[in-house]
Order: sequence, then C-alpha cells, then structure tokens
Amino acid sequence: MSIHEACGVFGAISPQRKDLARLTYYGLYALQHRGQESCGIVVDDDGLFYSHKDLGLVGDVFSKEDLDRMPASTMAVGHVRYSTTGEKVRANCQPIEVNHQKGKLALAHNGNLTNDDKLRDKLELNGAIFHTTSDTETIAYIITGERLKTGSIEDAVSQAMDVIEGAYSMVVMSAAKIMAIRDPYGFRPLCYGKTADGTYVIASESCALQAVGAEFIRDILPGEILVFSTDGSITSRREHCGTKPRQSCIFEQIYFARPDSIIDGIPIHQARVNAGRALAKAHPVEADAVIGVPDSGLNAAIGYAQESGIPYSIGMIKNKYIARTFISPSQRERDNQVHIKLNPISSIIKGKRVVLVDDSIVRGTTSRRLVTMMRDAGATEVHMRVSAPPFLHPCYYGVDIDSEDNLIAAHHSVDEICEMIGADSLGFLPIEDLKVLSPALDYCAGCFDGRYATAVSPNHRKNRFSTPLSQREKKSKK
Ligand code: SF4
Repeated sequence: MSIHEACGVFGAISPQRKDLARLTYYGLYALQHRGQESCGIVVDDDGLFYSHKDLGLVGDVFSKEDLDRMPASTMAVGHVRYSTTGEKVRANCQPIEVNHQKGKLALAHNGNLTNDDKLRDKLELNGAIFHTTSDTETIAYIITGERLKTGSIEDAVSQAMDVIEGAYSMVVMSAAKIMAIRDPYGFRPLCYGKTADGTYVIASESCALQAVGAEFIRDILPGEILVFSTDGSITSRREHCGTKPRQSCIFEQIYFARPDSIIDGIPIHQARVNAGRALAKAHPVEADAVIGVPDSGLNAAIGYAQESGIPYSIGMIKNKYIARTFISPSQRERDNQVHIKLNPISSIIKGKRVVLVDDSIVRGTTSRRLVTMMRDAGATEVHMRVSAPPFLHPCYYGVDIDSEDNLIAAHHSVDEICEMIGADSLGFLPIEDLKVLSPALDYCAGCFDGRYATAVSPNHRKNRFSTPLSQREKKSKK
C-alpha cells in the first residue's frame, strides 16, 4: 500500500489565553497519519501571529523550546501535510499566512481544488505574486480579495466558495475568529468538539479531539461555514449547504482515517469490519488463519474472520518506530522498507493456509513482497483478499492515487494480478459492497468507478501538481 493522504487540519479557540500551541501540537500528533511531509502551528497574540513550521514529523519539527517560545493565546491553527499539489518545500508548509489591508489570515487546508490552474492564471494575470505552489495560497488570495469588497471575513469566505471548486476542509483564522469550512460536497472530513474548560477544538478527525480531551460535538456539514469567536459564541452559515450532492470520500473509511475516529457518524473500525465481512461473503476460501496487514488491513481481517469462521491471527508485527513506507522518495526505497517495517511470525504461519487481508493494491509491488514473506515464513497457501475494489482511476480531490499508468488494476485482470503477486487466489471487495462502509450517506468512489462529481479541468487532469503560470510557461518553452 503506498497511497498518500493529503493533510490534516486542527484549530482551537478559547475565551481565556492559554497554551494553545501545545494543545494544537497534541492534536497534530493524533493527525500525523494524514500527512508526514511537513507541519506547522500559528497562534494569535492580540492580532499578531506567531508561527513555527517546517518539513518533517510533528515530533521532529517541534521541540519543547519551540512550544515554550509560542505565546499563550486565545486562537491557534495547525496543519500536517502531504503534498498532492505543490512541491515538498518549506515554502509550502502550512498554515499559510497572509497580510492584507483589513488584517491577517492563517489557513490550513485539506483537499485539492479542481480549478486551481484557472484561478491561478487569472490571479497572476491580475498581478498576484505567488510565494508557494500550493492551491491553499490560491484560496487565501481569493478570500483576501473578497475581504476588500465585503463587510466581514465570513462573507468573504462565502464569496470565495462561489468560485473555488473541488475538495476543501479548512480552518481559517483571522485576528478575531476561527472559521471551520467544508466544501459543499463534503469530500474531506471535519468535526469539532469542546474541552471541559470551554475551548472549542476543530479537527480533521475525531481522534484528535479525544487526544486533547475534547468532547465530540458534531461534524461540520458539507457547505457549512462555522464561525467561532473568542467570546465563546458560534454562528453557522449554511448558504452553501445542500447546493451539491454529498460526496464523502469512501477511501477515508477504507484506509486513511484512524480506526478510532468517527466520521459523519460512521465509526471507522466498524465500517472496516463490515467491509471484511462483505469480502468473506464475496470471496470465500478454505483456510486455517486470517491475517491482516498492519495497520489498516487489521479491522477488515477481523470482519473476514467473523464472517468466515476462520480463526483470526496476528501473523505480522509492525515496527512502530519507523515512519510509513510512503515517506520514502523513491520506489526502490519503499520496496526495501516493506521488509524493515513488517515481520512475519513464523510460528503462526508455518504449515497454514493463510488468508492475507490488505486494504488496497496500487502497483502490486508491496502485495508481491507480502505474499513472498508469507511463503518464506512457511505458509502452504496464500489467499490475498483486498477490502477495497480495484483502483482504476486517479483521485483529483486530495489523495495521491496515481495516474492510470501506475495502477496495476487499470492494465491487468484479477487473474493476472493474482499471478503477478504470486498468490494462490485474489479477491477484491465488489464495488456494489462499498455501501457497507457508508450505509446512510452518499459517497465518492471516483478512483474505483471513474465517476467524478465535479468538472476537472484538462490541466488539472494532466498535472495535479499545481504550478504557477510563470513556471508553466518556462517549462513549455524548454
Ligand atoms: Fe476518495 Fe477516491 Fe473519491 Fe478521491 S476519488 S475522493 S480517494 S473516493
């Protein structure tokens, strides 16, 4: 599995000044699985913003001294990033900060705009000078442009939402408020809660609320702008709610979200168990042990075992002290890291017919190594089961699912893939069974069925890594 999540966002606002930088640090720690390239925190100190951002994991970027240097405050926003637009450079670290005639803004964004190239071109032709290659800066420019014409920051955000298209769950901090914003389709998750001392907390996933002792209140609605003020008041703006069909990303349920999170009312652990059960019904096999690939295959493996009656076993140990495989810059390094990261327990596997459950197959290289690992540990048969349908298409909404060229299922039948990875049999979750992951809500399954809810500009289809007009021109001249 080598799919990259796009980001995690966090925000906190309190009636009293307190150490919100540290609270945000703990929140980002809980969201680390959503992005490991860079992270950052911005706190407000009476209209002055203090920030600390860098490339790296939360635990590496922030030392105790860094946190001690940040002032007590009533507002803070934070971000963990994996770049699906823009390059992996320090300039693209978030939250992005902008100064404008009517004040300051700090933005943290999860998702991808699908019309970023068009908007950038227009802004650049009107004189905007971009400092980053991230689509978040495009959003920042549009909001600040609207702010000069409107009476409030929330009006400016609402006007910007008329223009920007695609996936965006954001926290936006002005000098007086924090806004939690979710695009009208609701592609990416966003929720909020409250601590016992009255601090409101906003996060990509509910696991981050629990990490800071906040009680979950509810998910931000698709299209909602929820405005938090330092006097403790909250206002919900809903003019964009219900304007588009709901399109929650089903891959959050399959892989990205932490199993202890609840997203849009769906407990992720249970959703994955349900997928495992459906997988067992669709692709039964005679075997002695069901083994899940840590971490995101474990819950589906439990479901497969429950439905099939085959005993569930812990057959692989994950080294907890290295980062996820996909941090590596090259495919070769990723391949090598599979061995460092996972180790089979031979005493469990030896002489057994094994059902190996993973959450997805992208290029097939990891699956091949896992099957080989099982055989080397003494498995007599290895039956691969995948708790998602085959990836056939890219994602344009903030997940680094590659072009069709690199997706094994886009070019090979299930039987061919089975042979290529060296398994005795292979079964994917049927696409019609995706509904077990989200029984009550409509969802996006674009990477599986090729149906996208929004228009995707040809440039965005060609190159999801946004590049400023000036750089695109240079490239085309070469
Ligand atoms: Fe999620 Fe796939 Fe839709 Fe992207 S295309 S939002 S990964 S379901």
